[in-house]
Amino acid sequence: METKLISVMESEIEEKDSLLREAGEILKNGGLVAIPTETVYGLGGDALNKASSQKIYAAKGRPSDNPLIIHVADMESVEKIVTGVSTQARKVADAFWPGPLTMIFPKAEIVPYETTGGLDTVAVRMPSHPVARRVIAYAGGYVAAPSANTSGKPSPTLAKYVMEDMNGKIDMVIDGGEGDIGLESTIVDMTVSPPQILRPGYITKEMLEELLGEIDVDRTILRNDTGDRPKAPGMKYRHYAPKGELTIISGSQDAVIEYINDNARKAMAEGKRVGIIGSDEAIAGYVGDSVKNVGSKSDELSIGRSLYRILREFDEENIDVIYSESFGSEGMGQAIMNRLLKAAGHQLIEV
Ligand code: AMP
Ligand code: MG
Repeated sequence: METKLISVMESEIEEKDSLLREAGEILKNGGLVAIPTETVYGLGGDALNKASSQKIYAAKGRPSDNPLIIHVADMESVEKIVTGVSTQARKVADAFWPGPLTMIFPKAEIVPYETTGGLDTVAVRMPSHPVARRVIAYAGGYVAAPSANTSGKPSPTLAKYVMEDMNGKIDMVIDGGEGDIGLESTIVDMTVSPPQILRPGYITKEMLEELLGEIDVDRTILRNDTGDRPKAPGMKYRHYAPKGELTIISGSQDAVIEYINDNARKAMAEGKRVGIIGSDEAIAGYVGDSVKNVGSKSDELSIGRSLYRILREFDEENIDVIYSESFGSEGMGQAIMNRLLKAAGHQLIEV
């Protein structure tokens, strides 16, 4: 299959409206289109068409028990795919939609089990990205869109990485530049009381607590030794993984730099290529083949935005061994550490 790559930046949606209509038509006809969102690129298909959902799993190589998130553009659409919107869910929607937050609801019959991975619940998100919103509207209102990467690889934050994974497998890729957030949406299960965070993201536990009171967090988010199964089926898979072996080093800044440099020198002496993920604050101190500044510890948004791009760049540079600093696990740091720990297969060393 020929994959059509088009470019529509936020500022161009009016002049390029006909291209977005074409994307909507492809989706309506059961095809797949990768779309930019404020989190990561999504691999879109018509969420109410089971054949489209099956195509998404095939294109990603994704296990079919890992459900898809349905993207909508307005609240009326939500009401048609769930059995009811609770007062609490409405509050969350008012506060954080459109935006990087997904809620789990009991599903309405119209939603095929192919989309929900066999579950009786459905994940719904209303993105804020204007290109995504317009494509969803032109597609008929319901776009299932998991991250547009091959299953197991870091989620794509740039269209070139979508093309790397999906060229020849889907109908169209819309390049909309780099998203603001760079990490997947927060997922909160509204079918349990108190509501429970299944995947951390830009919308934090603290932000949800301020609105709703008590919020639970799935314990498996930052640990792999609880013996529990993650409640979001997708969180149990090794994810976000670069090709190089990643280890996270935690401790005082000086100790971390010393440890990383010692080990980087040893690995380089063995002929390995070493990549380092450092903060703005410490970056000048590192020695490695590829030393990358992920952003400032005082600006977690900058770290979230760069993380997946850096993991992909290490793949492009054939890096064998990667060391990363550790980051705080409060606020958005929880999302950053969740993705980093998964990318590292939970290899974390305290120095
Ligand atoms: P992705 O869109 O690729 O970032 O992955 C979607 C995530 O949402 C996966 O971790 C899924 O397991 C999770 N998810 C989707 N639907 C549900 C659901 N009904 N219940 C729990 N988790 C879900
Ligand atoms: Mg994903």
